[in-house]
Amino acid sequence: MTVRVRFAPSPTGMFHVGGARSALQNWIFAKQQGGVFVLRVEDTDAARNKPEWTEGILSALDWIGIARDTYEGPYFQSAYAGEHRAAAGRLYDAGRAYYCDCTREAVQARTGSQYQGYDGFCRDRGLPPGEGRALRFRTPDEGTTVVVDLIRGEPTFENKLIEDFVIARGDGSPVFLLANVVDDMTMGITHVIRAEEHLPNTPKQQLLWDALGVKPPVWAHVPVVVNEKRQKLSKRRDKVALEAYRDEGYLAAAMRNYLMLLGWAPSGDREIVPWSVIEEEFRLTEVNPSPAFFDEKKLRAFNGEYIRALPVDEFVAACQPWLTGTGTIAPPPWLPEEFDADAFAAVAPLAQTRIAVLSEIVPNVDFLFLAEPSIDEAAWAKAMKEGAADLLDAAVAGYTALESWDAESLKSTLEAVGAERGLKLGKAQAPVRVAVTGRTVGLPLFESLEVLGRERTLTRLRAARLRLV
Ligand code: GLU
Repeated sequence: MTVRVRFAPSPTGMFHVGGARSALQNWIFAKQQGGVFVLRVEDTDAARNKPEWTEGILSALDWIGIARDTYEGPYFQSAYAGEHRAAAGRLYDAGRAYYCDCTREAVQARTGSQYQGYDGFCRDRGLPPGEGRALRFRTPDEGTTVVVDLIRGEPTFENKLIEDFVIARGDGSPVFLLANVVDDMTMGITHVIRAEEHLPNTPKQQLLWDALGVKPPVWAHVPVVVNEKRQKLSKRRDKVALEAYRDEGYLAAAMRNYLMLLGWAPSGDREIVPWSVIEEEFRLTEVNPSPAFFDEKKLRAFNGEYIRALPVDEFVAACQPWLTGTGTIAPPPWLPEEFDADAFAAVAPLAQTRIAVLSEIVPNVDFLFLAEPSIDEAAWAKAMKEGAADLLDAAVAGYTALESWDAESLKSTLEAVGAERGLKLGKAQAPVRVAVTGRTVGLPLFESLEVLGRERTLTRLRAARLRLV
């Protein structure tokens, strides 16, 4: 039997990193089993769906390495409404479901406000279908439902504790629980790999599979993803959109490697491994069922390592969207004609070792392209203390007299200027750096000055000096 898995996102918002993790796990599992990965967009909640969210999901999957020619679909759940209704009809005809006209208030009045479930009031009333009547599944009174889960063993649920749940609303429209099962059946899904949040739905869904006479799939509920406070990642509180990470300059390779480490690790204490190793070594059955901590700090450090490992020309190419402002990435502070590709190429290797995300390239190199440096006033106040004016005067004099404008000479000149004033190089550098780049930290100063050139360096040093008068 061919393994068929599916990823079934609802296009109701930005694409969540937890969703990307589940998608990758499904995709690798399918690949390992010689199976098929199906993409199904669960777009039945018309009020909350937007076509752009669907497009966002497809392009985010593509970015993370799930290319459009590697899966079946996308199918759209809304196209299967007929199948969903037919299944609801079959369950009713077989006596496995019944109509119910109870309001929530009526149920609560009967059961007391503590009890959240349904009390089975309409079970044996034999109500015919009718406007406003929901269709409820008649859960078995006895026995247990055993879920076979590749990660969690065999979670077992007492049937008598499962309420008679709604499968179609008062207007006849089937609910998620049923539509999701019917689609999985229609699409021949053999393994349902999805987030742990859905585990409470699983016994109900498995009962639906049984009632519809089809062997249920094997399940795998992958762990919930939490923040540093062990709270489930939420879009209101945490940065969860895959696109946000992409736009900040996380590399897809780093991101997908990191996502696969949520609840699993490759052999031999390694974390950064080629993707081919992950594809080979990943075992769904080895995924740790406990909540997985999404550690943004670690991801950043991880990304920095991936950036440093790039060949320089690939690094230069990877920076382009931030240097020009492409798509959803904000344009840089300089004008397009102010950008100088050669100057950038000259400093790129220096920047490559210093940034953790690609967007950080902009503040590191803006001094090269802006007509005037954008001065950070706090940095200015810190660097331009007593003696700064005198030091800048001496630097201007020394640099004006320089024969060769190279990093080595720029450094020894400033070293001498500092020494005459009893200053170590670090102290002597500070006013020069702020005058030229506007910041107290950045790329190695003398290489920066070499690339910036004599004229612009001197102009900036003089301008800073004038400000100190
Ligand atoms: N549309 C559901 C979700 O996004 C999918 C549930 C499932 O994978 O079964 O949570």
